[in-house]
Amino acid sequence: MLIDTHLHWDAEEYDADRETLLAAARAAGISAFVVPGVAPELFARQAERCRDVPEARLAWGVHPLYLDEARRYSEALAGERLDPPAACAAAMAQLESWIASHSTVAIGEIGLDRFVPSPSLEAQRPWFEAQLCLAQKLGLPVLLHVRRAVEDVLQTLARFRLPGGILHAFNGSFAQAERALRLGFVLGFGGTMSYEGSRQVRRLAAELPWEAIVLETDGPDIPPAWAQDRRTVPADLARYAEILAGLRGCTVAEVIERTGENARRVLRL
Ligand SMILES: [Zn+2]
Repeated sequence: MLIDTHLHWDAEEYDADRETLLAAARAAGISAFVVPGVAPELFARQAERCRDVPEARLAWGVHPLYLDEARRYSEALAGERLDPPAACAAAMAQLESWIASHSTVAIGEIGLDRFVPSPSLEAQRPWFEAQLCLAQKLGLPVLLHVRRAVEDVLQTLARFRLPGGILHAFNGSFAQAERALRLGFVLGFGGTMSYEGSRQVRRLAAELPWEAIVLETDGPDIPPAWAQDRRTVPADLARYAEILAGLRGCTVAEVIERTGENARRVLRL
């Protein structure tokens, strides 16, 4: 199965032509895609845009770059200003109650991002850990956003007992990749592989054991090398499978089988 493990299908960038994009994805052989959540106030919209799309598998979480939105939403619901711990606790209650009544393959997209100046890593950390606690409690895998924070994330994951998950758009070292694998995680590869200059990512994709690798587009973000001026579309995944086959010197069929097997194992699809 050709599975996209990270696609923001509910993004506004797809509003104008979602039907056409879905038809193109089907024609390209994509059989399932995982749609990560980013903020509680957007969950209803995400559910609505994935309704009647049998390929969509939904995840729910608070993305590290949406903490302000989540705090403001919690304050709006509470009708008062909330200090950071109270805002986080309120969002976790919203997340847990949403999951209780909606189909869920994972908690995500959650993580740590040291690339952005704000929110700070210290502000992000309690939200990340609270969501890992919830994933542990519910026995759910997690979808991780990790930018310039692989070490922090690996150390944090090691303190929890999680059923595993995916480090999306992985860009760490071989040693870090192996530690992630030992913790039960797999690594997402997509558009970055299409750039000749992305030597480390291409080497990881070529040389890591098969068990480590899943495919993703991260659409509409991370445009492919052949179309840097446009959004990433779901059908791009088929070309990423070809690129991975080229890097590993195997057939596209093998890429589809191995990566699909990994995605189904980790996310229990
Ligand atoms: Zn994402």
